Order: sequence, then structure tokens, then C-alpha cells
Amino acid sequence: MAKADTVLIVGAGPAGLEAARTVAELGKRAMLIETKDQLGGTPYAYYATLTPDLQETEHSMQEILDAVEHHSAVDVRLNTRVVHSEGSLGAFHVTLDRDGAQTVEEVGAIVVATGFQHFDPGRETQMYGYYEYDDVITLVDAEKMFKDGNIVRPSTGLPPERVAFIQCVGSRDRQIGNKYCSKVCCGIASKQSIEIKRMLPNAKVFIFYIDMRMYGFWEDQIYWKAQEEYKVNYIRGIVTEIIRKGDKLLIKGEDTTMGRPMEVLMDLVILSVGMEPSKGTVEMSRIFQIPREEHGFLQVIGGPLNTVSTPVPGIFVAGAAAGPKDIEDSVSMGASAAAKAVGALKRLELEVR
Ligand SMILES: Cc1cc2nc3c(=O)[nH]c(=O)nc-3n(C[C@H](O)[C@H](O)[C@H](O)COP(=O)(O)OP(=O)(O)OC[C@H]3O[C@@H](n4cnc5c(N)ncnc54)[C@H](O)[C@@H]3O)c2cc1C
Ligand code: SF4
Repeated sequence: MAKADTVLIVGAGPAGLEAARTVAELGKRAMLIETKDQLGGTPYAYYATLTPDLQETEHSMQEILDAVEHHSAVDVRLNTRVVHSEGSLGAFHVTLDRDGAQTVEEVGAIVVATGFQHFDPGRETQMYGYYEYDDVITLVDAEKMFKDGNIVRPSTGLPPERVAFIQCVGSRDRQIGNKYCSKVCCGIASKQSIEIKRMLPNAKVFIFYIDMRMYGFWEDQIYWKAQEEYKVNYIRGIVTEIIRKGDKLLIKGEDTTMGRPMEVLMDLVILSVGMEPSKGTVEMSRIFQIPREEHGFLQVIGGPLNTVSTPVPGIFVAGAAAGPKDIEDSVSMGASAAAKAVGALKRLELEVR
């Protein structure tokens, strides 16, 4: 296999999968490596259903997974990580490690699609008591329950009567250094509130927000649906503390619309945790010498008109490794990064002719 014919794609989430598919469809070879033992990235590993139509994740992602797994021009390597890289566009020498066994692969260009990790709500926002109270959970914990087909209070195993979502946990928080909006969590909380109301029609569901930020069509597809059809209560307010009161959780804060203090009892609190660069993204920054932008994600150099080129020639980035994104945008970036990587290789071929 000619080395300049291969694009290495690091990370097999939505962005990496689409990058691999596009490289293969454009007539080059894709080597797709993933540290986990399965493809599909964060959504496939953690989420039961996806926006906007609440379809099961496995079902939604099946087509792209099949396309990648069954394409003869895609070489999938699971349980594999990049440990070293040298060389440049047209001839990168990348050391891969699989269970301690190392190989050096030659590739022409690279797409980094190593994604994000969920903010750990126990890290600095202890006032929400994530590690203290069983009934304070995250969006991710809730998705695990949805996978099992129910939603319960972990402390009792019984269905909750009153559920509160708290928005912007770990995002838009200058104190902890995350000065950005994670883009999707308003939509995901609204999606989950619909799911809870479908499972428990008599439950009261509240979403406490600073301001609601819906992503494009999600405004219509999820937010208004949750509010009008499912009677979810959106309350503009700041939650400052959660304490235990009897067998309930007391949420303390301020209702910022009414301008008055607020204290409400809940059975279950769901923290809308945002996105941070994954460990793999930070690691790839070091190994491939890609600078990180001020929020810690991988830097791109083209601004809004070129969202995938990094300062390192021949290395491109796709998806949440470059900042918070939904799946739609991650996949679009995957295709764009793949097209640019293949374009760079083709230009190189023309130069050597
Ligand atoms: C709670 C929550 C719910 C969400 N639900 C939705 C939704 O319903 N709809 C929607 O559109 N978006 C949703 N999102 C956003 C969605 O998860 C992201 O848009 C999407 O996962 C980004 O895809 P990605 O491929 O860039 O990254 P990821 O999905 O994070 O995939 C990255 C992949 O790279 C792998 N990796 C990491 N490091 C390495 C390494 N060093 N070497 C090899 N592989 C590596 C990881 O194991 C992972 O498989 C949600 C986000 C959150 C926080
Ligand atoms: S999407 Fe909503 S919850 Fe998430 S950080 Fe932005 S404003 Fe906060």
C-alpha cells in the first residue's frame, strides 16, 4: 500500500466514522484507530437515544457503522492508541500501540477525531453534592437508566415524582475556567424531560436555566415540544446549593425572573454536564504538536471558513476535539476533514509527477 494513499483517523466517534467513510469513498485508504473495543464514540457508548427524534442510538448509527466496518478501503484497529509520531505531510511515521505491541505505520495525512469528555460535576461544583447524594445524577447517568427502560431515584429504586434539571454544570463558568457554552445540554435536558414525561406522565419536571440555548431546529423540535406537549416547567434561575431534607433534596437559589429567593423540594436532580476536551484530545495535541486554543480544544487556523485545518500541514481535526458540537456538525466536519486530507495528498501526487 502506497503510504501517501492512506489517511490515519484517530477516534471512531461520529466525526471519525464519517471521516473514514469519506476517505474511502474518495478512493484513498483509511486507517481508523480507536482506543475502545467498539466503534461509535461517546454517543454509542453512553446515550440511549438521540436528538431530535429520540431514536435509539444503536439504530441511528447502524448505517454509518456498517458503511465503515464493511468497506474494504477502511482498516479498523480497535484497542489501539497513537504513542508517537514523526515526519510530515505525505510521510508521517506513526507508532501505534495495541496491548503493548507496537507497530510503526506510514500514512500520508491525519485526521484527529478524539472528541470530548463529560465534565465531572464533583470536581469543583461540590455544592450540587454529586458524590454526596445518590439522587443527584448527571445527564449521562440518566441515559444509562433510559437504556434500561426506566428512570428511578437511585436511593429507593422508585420512580421520582419531582425531577429537576440544572443547566450549565461545568460550562459558562469562569471560576472553573470553562468560559464556553457546551451547545447541546439545553437540548439534551429537554429531550430527557420528554422521555421522563413519557415514562412517568404524572411526574413534575423542572429545568432550571440561566438562559435556554437551543441548537437550530432543536428549538422547534425539542424545546417547544417539551414545554407545550409535555408541560415541562422551564424556570429561569440560579441554583446555588442542594442539601438533603428528609428523604428529599432541597434546591436553594434564586428565581431570576421573579427576582426572589427560591427553595424547592425534589426527588431527583439531573446535572446538565457539559463538554471538555477528552484525555485523548489533549494527548494528540502533544504527540502531533497541534496547539490548543484558549478553551483547551485543538486549534484550527481557518476560522469559520475552514473549520478543520490545524497549524500542522497534513493534520486535520474533526468533531468535538475542536470544541463543543452536536453530532450533525461533528459528522459534517468529519467529511470536510477527510476531503481536505485527500486533497492534500492529491496535490502532493501532482507535485511529484
Ligand atoms: C450528555 C450528552 C448527550 C448528548 N446527546 C446528543 C444527541 O442526542 N444528539 C446530538 O447530536 N449530540 C449529542 N451530544 C453531543 C455528541 O455526543 C457529540 O456531538 C459527538 O459525540 C461528537 O463526536 P466526536 O466523534 O467528535 O467525538 P466522540 O463521540 O467523543 O468520539 C471520540 C472517539 O475518540 C476515541 N478516542 C479518544 N482518544 C483516543 C485516542 N488517543 N486514540 C484513539 N481513539 C481515541 C474515543 O474513545 C471515542 O470513541 C451529547 C452530548 C452530551 C454531553
Ligand atoms: S447548551 Fe445550555 S446548558 Fe449547555 S452550556 Fe449552553 S446554555 Fe448551558
